[in-house]
Amino acid sequence: MKVFVTGGAGYIGSHTLVQLLAAGHEVCVFDNFANSSPVALDRVRQLTNRGIGLVEADIRDADALRDAVTTFAPDAVMHFAGLKAVGESSSLPLLYYQTNVSGTMNLLAAMDAAGCKRIVFSSSATVYGEAHYLPFDEDHPIAPTNPYGRTKAMAEGIIGDWAKATAGASAVLLRYFNPVGAHESGRIGEDPRDIPNNLMPFVAQVAVGRRDRLSIFGDDYDTRDGTGERDYINVVDLAAAHLAAIEYASRAAGCEAINVGTGRGITVKELVAAYERACGRTLPVEIASRRPGDVASSYAATVKARDLLGWNAVLDIDAMCASSWLWQSTNPDGYGDRQ
Ligand code: NAD
Ligand code: UDP
Repeated sequence: MKVFVTGGAGYIGSHTLVQLLAAGHEVCVFDNFANSSPVALDRVRQLTNRGIGLVEADIRDADALRDAVTTFAPDAVMHFAGLKAVGESSSLPLLYYQTNVSGTMNLLAAMDAAGCKRIVFSSSATVYGEAHYLPFDEDHPIAPTNPYGRTKAMAEGIIGDWAKATAGASAVLLRYFNPVGAHESGRIGEDPRDIPNNLMPFVAQVAVGRRDRLSIFGDDYDTRDGTGERDYINVVDLAAAHLAAIEYASRAAGCEAINVGTGRGITVKELVAAYERACGRTLPVEIASRRPGDVASSYAATVKARDLLGWNAVLDIDAMCASSWLWQSTNPDGYGDRQ
């Protein structure tokens, strides 16, 4: 299959490219490197010994996107490109709506121009907002609590309307829980630009000595040990879910939202303990106050992914920490070109 991959140089996109190429698909990446490095694509080429088409441009540039999609004439699109920092989305909401919402509309228009009817979209569990019940299933009410989450919910709605209006169209909205870990080679991984907001990359930078200590945001939640509980999904499992999703989109019409998680919550303290096992030393931590807006627990119902995609997560938290540590310890400055 010919797969057009927006945001393919990013963390999740690069891991998915490895599996797409290994499965024999032909890919064209569309990325402006706003939050990624061309080195990631070089590493994917080395890992797979395959070529990768690249168009360096912005998804807000509708003409460039249409030209790229019509020239490549893909069978399917994977849409990773977007901005993802929750805090920044509150200070720069228009940038987030332009990139994540208008960018998605530009992509659908470009697909129409090229006659491409299949899309897999990177959505997020953040669309659910506060848990009315757990685990989150796909029928849980959608009520995001920040601009980032609202851009994802809007993009989901727009893709759903496009799929309804387009004969033979098929869309899969993958709602990721908490992607972590790295390719088992340690050659590609997550390379945050600034101080990481997310737990796992922060822990990785503490382990490698780039940060003094981890602040645990609250130990008085109603969880096993008082710290926040999340559903960490290995990025390698997540990449496999994308391959299953384009296969599904090739045989089914319509639009489906599907959770991608393990179904299991891990607390902050449990994750730190697993990382300590992976890196072989005790990590300095301090208990800090709760982070505003955080929920106690979030984890996925995984039945729909199993039933529709035939996919389930196979890698556990120790594998996630081991691969993260291999990437972080062998690439302490990430791809090294953005410091
Ligand atoms: P990432 O920042 O590593 O990758 C996003 C890619 O999109 C980058 O390569 C970036 O350069 C590119 N990009 C950004 N703006 C662009 C633009 N205007 N034009 C062209 N390219 C642009 O992020 P990621 O973690 O790989 O996330 C991929 C997708 O998954 C995003 O849409 C994100 O919102 C979603 N998602 C991520 C997480 C997570 O925790 N990592 C969770 C849920 C959903
Ligand atoms: N967390 C923490 N210290 C950090 C970053 C995160 O204690 O430096 C906690 C956070 O409060 C939450 C969990 O780790 O309970 C996961 O946070 P992350 O931002 O990675 O994911 P999200 O909250 O967006 O699901």
